[in-house]
Amino acid sequence: MLRVTLIMLLMMLAPLSSLFAVESVIMDSALTPEQAIYENQPPGTPEDVLSQLVLIDVRYWGLDGRLHQGQIVVHKALARDVRRIFAKIEQKRFPVESVLPIAHPLIQQKGPYGLSSDTNNTSGYAWRPMVGGRSVSLHGLGLAIDINPRLNPYVRGDTVIPAGSVYDPARPGALARNARVVQYFKTRGWEWGGDWTDRADYMHFQKIPEGLDAWVRSYR
Ligand SMILES: [Zn+2]
Repeated sequence: MLRVTLIMLLMMLAPLSSLFAVESVIMDSALTPEQAIYENQPPGTPEDVLSQLVLIDVRYWGLDGRLHQGQIVVHKALARDVRRIFAKIEQKRFPVESVLPIAHPLIQQKGPYGLSSDTNNTSGYAWRPMVGGRSVSLHGLGLAIDINPRLNPYVRGDTVIPAGSVYDPARPGALARNARVVQYFKTRGWEWGGDWTDRADYMHFQKIPEGLDAWVRSYR
């Protein structure tokens, strides 16, 4: 009788222990908004842009199979989308290596102002020109996100960024055309760089929210 009671007790506690397991999230990034948005910025970054940005805490399953918490900086008009998209990324267990703001010390170590592409880090805002152009990238306005760059490179002719990376849509963390994550971004009105015809930017998603066209044009 005692044994049966013990077994029943253990069965009742089992779901509780899995609840506690969910609580053990690996903290990858815990910056303040001030640190993530205003520190380690390239000279000349417009205050008008910085004041539109928000820092969002996100959770994701890493390539190590563990649950992590990171942070991403985006334009405030995309905050709701980004929260929902990352909830989907976590729910579908689409693996993401890391999500650190470019101001994070680990990203800064790779290159000044987080401009090195030698990383598989997922990020949003970064004040920088477009690849192969001089006008500011939509990342510079917080209106684009790159996911797992080393698994989802930018490819144009012989140019591959990050250098040496290879796109294989079958790999965990790679974005395939029919991937749920890609579809989910698109249903919320985001454009995927993997659909472009003159180049492929598999890591890249962008969206210009309603009412921001003139503001975006003033920077491009
Ligand atoms: Zn991008």
